[in-house]
Amino acid sequence: MAKAKKRENVWLECKECGQRNYRTEVNVSQGTPKIELKKFCKHERKHTVHKIRRK
Ligand SMILES: [Zn+2]
Repeated sequence: MAKAKKRENVWLECKECGQRNYRTEVNVSQGTPKIELKKFCKHERKHTVHKIRRK
């Protein structure tokens, strides 16, 4: 019996300019994870906080 894993491809969206810079896979079985990551924003060319954005 296969385990029902709810994994979904999501975007990591820049909090400052809204640019979607990265894609990642997260477990959404308990709702959208509230993850915030400091990532390099190609749009602004600096490190900013990125949050998860489901499609
Ligand atoms: Zn940005």
